[in-house]
Amino acid sequence: MAQSAATGKLWVVATPIGNLDDCSPRAQQVLRQVDLIACEDTRHSASLLKHFGIATRTLAVHEHNEREVSGDLVRRMHEGAQIALICDAGTPLISDPGFRLVRAAREAGIAVSPVAGPCAAIAALSVAGLASDCFVFEGFLPAKSAARRAHLQALIGETRTLIFYESSHRIVESLTDMAQVFGAARHAVLARELTKLFETVLDGPLQELVQRVSTDTDQQRGEFVLLVAGAGDDADAARLVEGHRVFGLLRKELSPSRAAKLAAEITGAPRKTLYESVES
Ligand code: SAM
Repeated sequence: MAQSAATGKLWVVATPIGNLDDCSPRAQQVLRQVDLIACEDTRHSASLLKHFGIATRTLAVHEHNEREVSGDLVRRMHEGAQIALICDAGTPLISDPGFRLVRAAREAGIAVSPVAGPCAAIAALSVAGLASDCFVFEGFLPAKSAARRAHLQALIGETRTLIFYESSHRIVESLTDMAQVFGAARHAVLARELTKLFETVLDGPLQELVQRVSTDTDQQRGEFVLLVAGAGDDADAARLVEGHRVFGLLRKELSPSRAAKLAAEITGAPRKTLYESVES
């Protein structure tokens, strides 16, 4: 959509998810220079702004009033105002308000520019050691167990790494549901309090995580990103287990190379891995 030179701009500014040193110099500069900061919660953001000595005026824009105030903010930007959008922590719009305002601004031809920075999902993925070429961000799961399980059921076959946000009061329940739906052996990573004092990143089979977290109340405190390996990993592992079983049976009658070839054809396990297991 065409932009008029006289219009203002909407800056979508990421702020720290814990460690205030993660607030980039550019984020600070934009927040200092804009005419108005649209905050998810003005009181919450006040401490961040105070920390950096930023005195810019703020306005609350949250899920309950976003639709209502977006039109007014767009009008102000048309009149030349520069507005920054921030949320309580991390990147706006990512499980946070702002999508309606961004859409309204874009539809009105206002320039919308990101000031990139922290995002809990991406920070967690960057340290999880799970496949990161393709992933699915699922945000928060439903609060009620039946709905949560139904949601997880629909994801059983998902081959990409799954990323969820979870709060402290549901972390044990969600992990337990995941172990039941995805299977106890599915690999997962629990990233807690990232960039903060009590940061911990636990990884292991889902059942092991359920055990560790449910027996340690410290591990139930704070903010969590829960990452689950895609179904592909499990299917490969299951194929390999079956491949070894069939290979072991065929080996009694056939040469290792013939047994490996047939076992691979029957089960889909990689022939080379089966064959090489004879050596090891
Ligand atoms: N917009 C934010 C972002 O960019 O990550 C997410 C906002 S969402 C309302 C808040 C959730 O993000 C928390 O409940 C938790 O699941 C996750 N989260 C935020 N900060 C975190 C941190 N420091 N460590 C782990 N998870 C965090």
